[in-house]
Amino acid sequence: VSECIFCKIVAGELPSSKVYEDDTLLAFMDINPINEGHTLVIPKEHFVEMADMDEQTGMLLFQATLRLQRAIRDSGVPCEAINLFLADGEAAGQEVPHVHMHIFPRFKGDAFRVHYDWVSKQWPGREQLDATAAGIRNALEVQPGGATA
Ligand code: 5GP
Ligand code: ZN
Repeated sequence: VSECIFCKIVAGELPSSKVYEDDTLLAFMDINPINEGHTLVIPKEHFVEMADMDEQTGMLLFQATLRLQRAIRDSGVPCEAINLFLADGEAAGQEVPHVHMHIFPRFKGDAFRVHYDWVSKQWPGREQLDATAAGIRNALEVQPGGATA
């Protein structure tokens, strides 16, 4: 889509520091890295969210993610651990409406934080967990592919 910044990067209309490219995917450095080595992997096609993306592209995206996380670890940037992050939808923190997987190095003492009120949260009982699981199982079964891929 013409006004999408990631589509512009794919088209070469905006500069990027590329790490990997094939017919389906592009990986490049995030312009505002959480830590050095922060890489984004995107499908070249403009899918706004995961629901728009076909599973073949999704599998290739995760395959590339696995390879890239290994390469980031081996590249010499400070990297004791890795976080993957994919914000799907605005309420999840998605700012660029073109599917993208974040891969970023982590190390003890870095500044990245996930804010959550772990302490005062009321945890669900088994009954609630079972009911929620049943709801998701049912939704899975009525998907076009059913519960299996
Ligand atoms: P989101 O919040 O949507 O999950 O992540 C969007 C990411 O895209 C952010 O980490 C941001 O730094 C990155 N970003 C935004 N604009 C550009 C750009 O023009 N070039 C690159 N390389 N990254 C960008
Ligand atoms: Zn796009």
